[in-house]
Amino acid sequence: MKTQWHHLTRLENLTNTLFSAGKYTKAIDTAKELLEMAKETEDQKAMMNAHIHLSSCYYFLGDIETAFQHILEYKLLCNEFGDDRDKYHLYRLSALIYEYEENYEEAKEAMRQCIQIAEELEMYSEAGTSYNTYSNYLLQEGKYGEALDYASKALHICAEHCPSEILLQCHIYLTIASCHIGMNELTKAEEIIDHLALNQYINHFPHEKAHFLHVKASFHRSKGEHDQALQFLNDSFKIYSDFKNQIKLKSILKEIAEIHESRGDYKKAYEALKEYIQMAEKLFSIRLSYKMREFDVHQSIKAIEKRANVDSLTGVYNRYFLETTCNKWLKEAKKEGQHICFVIIDIDSFKHINDTYGHLLGDEVIKQVAQACLKVAYEDKENILVGRYGGDEFIVLFRNCPPHSIMDKAKQLYNEITSIQINHASHDIHLTVSIGAVCTNSLPYAKKFTQLLKVADHALYMAKRQGKNQIVYLSNENC
Ligand code: GH3
Ligand code: MG
Repeated sequence: MKTQWHHLTRLENLTNTLFSAGKYTKAIDTAKELLEMAKETEDQKAMMNAHIHLSSCYYFLGDIETAFQHILEYKLLCNEFGDDRDKYHLYRLSALIYEYEENYEEAKEAMRQCIQIAEELEMYSEAGTSYNTYSNYLLQEGKYGEALDYASKALHICAEHCPSEILLQCHIYLTIASCHIGMNELTKAEEIIDHLALNQYINHFPHEKAHFLHVKASFHRSKGEHDQALQFLNDSFKIYSDFKNQIKLKSILKEIAEIHESRGDYKKAYEALKEYIQMAEKLFSIRLSYKMREFDVHQSIKAIEKRANVDSLTGVYNRYFLETTCNKWLKEAKKEGQHICFVIIDIDSFKHINDTYGHLLGDEVIKQVAQACLKVAYEDKENILVGRYGGDEFIVLFRNCPPHSIMDKAKQLYNEITSIQINHASHDIHLTVSIGAVCTNSLPYAKKFTQLLKVADHALYMAKRQGKNQIVYLSNENC
């Protein structure tokens, strides 16, 4: 199981890297492999991830129908297994379709939803990306001033929360340069372009390079320097050709035709226009508006929201609710100088229970462990959160918890769970758990659920290694 998991993660990372580098054909190969493997292991999240990448890759390669097919499959999985994060991707993919249809009103609406979700979940890189995409839609509509506002917001988020996302920053600066070109503020545009020309990301990543050359062409075109503009458009065209990015190629061809036409070079304009029309006809032979009704994002969103917070087997909260609530609590606790205790519980040798008594009884054990944790939470429902992290792992969060009481809390949980009585074929099944615990007083830097999880998980690992059936609390001294 662990090796499969590593293999899935490796494939997910590889697909992501290839996609970010604009290597769509290769990314499709790895995403397909990922999809196959995810289906075999019934890992729905990995399946969804594969569909996200497949739809985006096919989209840029101009195979809209296949892209749309993957979006639909993503939506179906989302209906059943999606959470708040998946909602974000659902809106993002629907924006892609609206963008293809050149329906910028709907594309903007979808992107506004993306912004809202990304901000709520503090997914800063996604928030920055969404503001930047929104700005690009405004550019398409010729609303340059408003576009600049959104791009500036994107830049602000990026600088404050994800300064290491250099590629995203490059994208935003390219958008800002385009806004200035649109507003005829050519000195400001030139400053950014000169600055970006030295950027190693722009020079080493072909997609960014092509985008940069395209912006540079627009700049020269605005200055009336048509030869240079054509040169840069051609250079950009060559790079996008290597990546078969049909959407970009189409828009460049249109600009080349326009420049030739404005110079009275009708023969060349005609040739470029002919090529443009052929490409546009091929691309737009499939209209997707009618299919968007089938897509019905809102119905999916409702389905997600309905069961987004709860684990279906046990009724306790699921990992995403745990994560988002924990992040919220951490923020508040920091302001108020209070602490959060984080307890992770894993049933010992649960596989053995499954193998010996069957999966159904295994399910019953999981449900009873959830109930035992809830008994502890009843004391203070407002400040104790019980969730199933996955499989046989539970997390209990304690808000406003004095660090010295964490061991008592962990013991209380341990006692409740180990006194569960499950009878099978007239004998009792004895249950033990290993517990890892940590409190924010030992991790003053912790701002995120994942940071607490990492340390608590390490404590749990120690408990398992030391022979299971015990609690390990990583306090200040040994954290
Ligand atoms: P350890 O003591 O080290 O925790 O070992 P373990 O046997 O508990 O093994 P591990 O935690 O790695 O595996 C948990 C098993 O739980 C693997 C999986 O088949 C099973 N499992 C996961 N989800 C469910 C579920 O919803 N129901 C049942 N019955 N089993 C599940
Ligand atoms: Mg276990």
